[in-house]
Amino acid sequence: MGISNMQYRDIIFQYDQTRMKNQRLLNKRYESLYRKFPELKEIHNKIIELSMKQAANEILTPEQAEEKRYSYLEKKDILLARKAAILKENHYPADYLNPVYTCADCKDTGFLKNNTPCHCFKQAKLQALYENSNLADALECENFDTFCEELYDNTTIHENLSITPRENIRRIREACFDFIRHFDKAYENLLLYGPTGVGKTFITHCIAKELLDTAHTVVYLTSLQLFDMLEKNKFQREDAYAANEQISYMLDSDLLIIDDLGTELSNSFTISQLYYFIEERHRNQKSTIISTNLSFSDLRERYSERIFSRFTGYYDFKQIIGNDIRIQKALNL
Ligand SMILES: [Zn+2]
Repeated sequence: MGISNMQYRDIIFQYDQTRMKNQRLLNKRYESLYRKFPELKEIHNKIIELSMKQAANEILTPEQAEEKRYSYLEKKDILLARKAAILKENHYPADYLNPVYTCADCKDTGFLKNNTPCHCFKQAKLQALYENSNLADALECENFDTFCEELYDNTTIHENLSITPRENIRRIREACFDFIRHFDKAYENLLLYGPTGVGKTFITHCIAKELLDTAHTVVYLTSLQLFDMLEKNKFQREDAYAANEQISYMLDSDLLIIDDLGTELSNSFTISQLYYFIEERHRNQKSTIISTNLSFSDLRERYSERIFSRFTGYYDFKQIIGNDIRIQKALNL
């Protein structure tokens, strides 16, 4: 299953909207700065005047255009330097009046110079593919900037780990930063485990946000969504299955996140498919993050020794401890 024409049009429409929004933002910046510093407007007009003159020279007197070009560029540089100085003196960033792009790589067109799809287009497509567009909203609120270690108790020492939940979450956050920092160089998988409500999903969102911001493709699926999708595709012919875009993105995306493993209704087919994804992603050295409430013995029992041994062989286990953060948050509200 690929994306429909309507979904495709919707993605293109979103790019139009983004370009218009950014253009409006830039216009507002110009308007406000021209009001405050009329000299900027004069500089702008002078540059236009000079460029038009030079363009006329190139056409009308091409034999002299070459030597005039030098003086034109010199004058233009002086004006641009003055413009930069005005911005700097008044504490505006140097690029404040440059075109604004949400994705600088494709200038919000979705496509690169050689007409190949940009990473942001691929991500928009796969979000449509998994009907996952609300992920973007979740990432706005759930990221490392909103990460709050105070939600974790700092008084009780955990029996097995011999540290407090707060110290533990700090270490996990550092491990996540390492995971992100080395993402392009080192292949690594994480398995986050611990009881409900201690922030496992939040952590997966934090990592997803950082990697999306640095031009990676991320497929995020709850275990329910994943197994539901596998079940729906169960009776496809093998070649159709391999050509299925939902399946292929799960194999090829830079990061695959399976959230809340163990909450799904599984059967022998879906479990064998889980094994297939774990093995294929490992073979292609593509990272995967799994979160689960299940204990080791539950994992082994539910998914077989074969899968469990892949977890222990390929994944770094991170135990998250603490009281139910959602309850604490609710109490504080
Ligand atoms: Zn882009």
